[in-house]
Amino acid sequence: MSTSHMITGVLFRTAPREGEVPLVFDSPHSGTDYPEDFDHTCPRAVLRTAEDTYVHELYAAAPAHGATLIGALFPRSYIDANRHIADIDQALLAEPWPHPLNPGVKTKLGMGLIRRLAVPKLPVYSRKLGVAEVQARIDRYYHPYHAELQTAADRLHARFGSVWHVNCHSMKSVSNGMAAEGPGVARADFVLGDRDGTTCAPELTRFVEKFLGKRGYDVRINDPYKGVELVRRHGRPKQNRHSLQIEVNRKLYMDEESFERNANFAKLKADLDALVAALARFARERVV
Ligand SMILES: [Zn+2]
Repeated sequence: MSTSHMITGVLFRTAPREGEVPLVFDSPHSGTDYPEDFDHTCPRAVLRTAEDTYVHELYAAAPAHGATLIGALFPRSYIDANRHIADIDQALLAEPWPHPLNPGVKTKLGMGLIRRLAVPKLPVYSRKLGVAEVQARIDRYYHPYHAELQTAADRLHARFGSVWHVNCHSMKSVSNGMAAEGPGVARADFVLGDRDGTTCAPELTRFVEKFLGKRGYDVRINDPYKGVELVRRHGRPKQNRHSLQIEVNRKLYMDEESFERNANFAKLKADLDALVAALARFARERVV
């Protein structure tokens, strides 16, 4: 995989090698470059369970099939690109936030724009954060990530009249107490999120559901993950901008304690290579 563009520690974008199609994949949570000023006091190994480790590798075939692949290099526990910019917990801050605040359900669960809890009852920090340092994270990481994805999506839409965006994530095999569904619930193999049918044409969700189902995977729709900020921003089906979130169960590709790839990694990646190829055909056939 050749990286066409990289901002060190922030993001990479890999352009299609040939036969470009209006298809873009983004992986906002697979970054593992922990910034030097990230002075978390919880253990790194616990914090790392917030990562969607290796997800960008699972979709690495995208450029070979004409799609664009974008990934964050920073960890989502430092700042989460898949949150609304106002999804901030004032209680985390040492001083009043000078911009509008709109803490949502994710902030209440301890995982808003700036994460408060590593896992239930374990705070990330033993101090409060300054406004300037949070603002710096937004300026250095959050905005560039969103700008990269927006520019790619806008360029494809301008060229092809449509754009299909796949927002790629992974989920713990069993929920903990910070999950919307409560603790101890075993997850499906895949959860597709289109915010209850609002972020893409229903045919995209059905296409992916059917494709994965035929390969023997257990697939659920919007249960328990409907998609958050990235599909909300990019899903404008009436403008022919379609956005679907895909969550894959980590047990299918990694050891959740050692963070090593497991023996099934190659099998899952081969199935996702085939999904990427099928989605490239899907996007090409729908160019208007
Ligand atoms: Zn994620």
